[in-house]
Amino acid sequence: MSVSNPYDALFEPVKIGPVTARNRFYQVPHCCGLGHVRPQAHAAMRGMKAEGGWAVVSTEEAEIHPTSDLSPYAEQRIWDERDIPALKLMTDAVHAKGALAAIELVHNGSHAMNYLSRAPLLAPSDITMEAVYPKQARAMSKADIQSFRQWHRSAARRAMQAGFDIIYVYAGHRMTLAHHFLLPQYNKRHDEYGGSLENRARLLRQLLEDTKEEVGSQCAVAFRFAVDEMLDDGGMTWQKEGQAIVKMLAEIPDLWDVNVSNWANDSATSRFEKHEGYQTPYIEFVKKVTNKPVVAVGRITSPDYMLSMVKDGIVDFIGAARPSIADPFIPNKIRAGRIDEIRECIGCNVCVSSDGLGVPIRCTQNPTIAEEWRRGWHPEKIAIKGQQESALVIGGGAAGLECAMQLARRGYEVTLAEARPEMGGRILDESSLLGLSAWKRVLDYRLFDIQRRANINMYNHSHLSAEQVLEFGVPNVFVATGASWRLDGVGRSRRDPITSDQSLPIYTPDDVMQSNLPDALLMPHVLLFDDDLIYMGGVMAQHLVEGGYKVSVVTSASVVSPFAELTLEQPMIQKRLLDSGVTIIANHAVTAVQAGEVHLVCNYTGRIQKISASGLLLVTEKQRHSTLYDALMAMDDPGLQHLELIGDAANPGLLADAVYSGHLAARNFEEPAGEVEQQQFRREIIALD
Ligand code: ADP
Ligand code: SF4
Repeated sequence: MSVSNPYDALFEPVKIGPVTARNRFYQVPHCCGLGHVRPQAHAAMRGMKAEGGWAVVSTEEAEIHPTSDLSPYAEQRIWDERDIPALKLMTDAVHAKGALAAIELVHNGSHAMNYLSRAPLLAPSDITMEAVYPKQARAMSKADIQSFRQWHRSAARRAMQAGFDIIYVYAGHRMTLAHHFLLPQYNKRHDEYGGSLENRARLLRQLLEDTKEEVGSQCAVAFRFAVDEMLDDGGMTWQKEGQAIVKMLAEIPDLWDVNVSNWANDSATSRFEKHEGYQTPYIEFVKKVTNKPVVAVGRITSPDYMLSMVKDGIVDFIGAARPSIADPFIPNKIRAGRIDEIRECIGCNVCVSSDGLGVPIRCTQNPTIAEEWRRGWHPEKIAIKGQQESALVIGGGAAGLECAMQLARRGYEVTLAEARPEMGGRILDESSLLGLSAWKRVLDYRLFDIQRRANINMYNHSHLSAEQVLEFGVPNVFVATGASWRLDGVGRSRRDPITSDQSLPIYTPDDVMQSNLPDALLMPHVLLFDDDLIYMGGVMAQHLVEGGYKVSVVTSASVVSPFAELTLEQPMIQKRLLDSGVTIIANHAVTAVQAGEVHLVCNYTGRIQKISASGLLLVTEKQRHSTLYDALMAMDDPGLQHLELIGDAANPGLLADAVYSGHLAARNFEEPAGEVEQQQFRREIIALD
């Protein structure tokens, strides 16, 4: 007798116009830093999602014409016939694993930069381009609008030739021409394309109808639409214009892919949107208005929530970008009842940051993403061991846990030693901070996996010296002893310690995470110096404010946590701090502590100002913990086959870097050095024709 899966409803096929999806798991369009620049890597990455069970796998946005040129970012490109073969690599890879392939056609209007094409920028009305660059977009003439419709139509035809099953019309994220026509802030026209909602939606309707006419008997036409702009001061809301548009166009597309705008709201981090399904309140009206299938997102990772969304009639498809990056095998794991094995997205947006840098996507939870082609990595498979039998991993933080887990998967007898009472290292520490609790998933996933394996022994409370390492008698040693925040103020701004007469207590983020700070009553005013500029300074400031401290932030940059611009969080971080009464002093660095005052120097003028405070918190740079490794290296004949320093002890960085480092070490162990080196050089070379 076959036992039914409680999540069977998630595996029902669903018709989308002329095509049928095999189940309800839908990878919505997402950027990946691969795009038209790295087509083989792109095809392999999307193909892996299809292998993992997704029914629909989409591209990122695909520029339809040189007037929508997003260079230097690596998005898709479907300007002419010559782009078809690269895109076909992706559709073939996706089809080979039984999924449908979707393409998100886009014209970015004034959001495009056209740095490469140098084409004129197009917009509904005259407007400055979005990027800070001295160029303005011009209001499109009727002839421009006709041309645009023709470009979109031709791109849809080429997409069909490339083998796509679903073709998108895209009006979202405030990044597309179709969206700009809809929004009164962008559209000041007085003709039939401006003014009333009906008029502002005219172009959208035409694009949908054109696309259907061009490909509709063979491909489905999806409409990606942001129903709400989530703006404090006006803008489109789902209750009014968002809903009116869905009603107006209800039955034209074959599928509604609905979300919120802008991208920062759509891809909100767990720091700012704690709960999965955070978009549901905005989109749940859609299915009541249209008979067409609906897909929506919201960092959805739990099968029970997915099931409720389907059973409650909120969506037909569970949409995912980030959850499908963190775990491309979510559908297969649910189907096989292996729910505990899902690697849940932590909502950190490190993936998003790679798009902004124009480099291949990376992910804190899934170190294999974008390495499917270059290194041949599979998220669920790893080569079995070679000649060696055992390995010792020292340090149970992000790098050590990942390394130990993968070595155990390869079949080695693994010993994992951790100095502290619990495994987790910086994951445990950082996830204790306000807003970062979801980051603990990095630990949970690995610990769960390790605990089930018979060939891995974990020892807590085990601070190892070099001699003790050798006493284990294990010839292969991976040292993942981490790093800690510096207490001397050395960082980007200064390479020498700050001077202090010890009139103020000085702390680091490690003290905060280990609860070593005096109570706010004893140390009411903390001056925080952020010279790290990644995320920790902003996180610390908010954490202390909520703990009752008065906080002043001194940053050597012109904004707080500038790296967070890449994770789409910076404006939210700064707003929240200002709303909490935090004073922000930009473009300054701490030089000294004297007579209860902190001396700050202006980056530009060198002028000194003095601020009194009751404590100083330094977020500057990390000190590597390499003493153990150095001691082992210094031994005359330690009798080790393999000794490797990994993670933050080797190169302090993001949590994603530590996980990747642990993964890389485990994969490369016992592999021929030449092959390992070659993988680094594997890249897509431009053909010279
Ligand atoms: P990474 O991000 O590189 O994994 P973490 O700081 O998260 O670094 O983890 C390093 C871990 O190593 C910490 O949990 C720390 O307690 C542990 N550790 C450091 N030195 C030793 C040692 N000599 N023996 C055992 N564990 C150690
Ligand atoms: Fe999720 Fe972070 Fe991975 Fe992006 S990088 S998919 S947000 S875990």
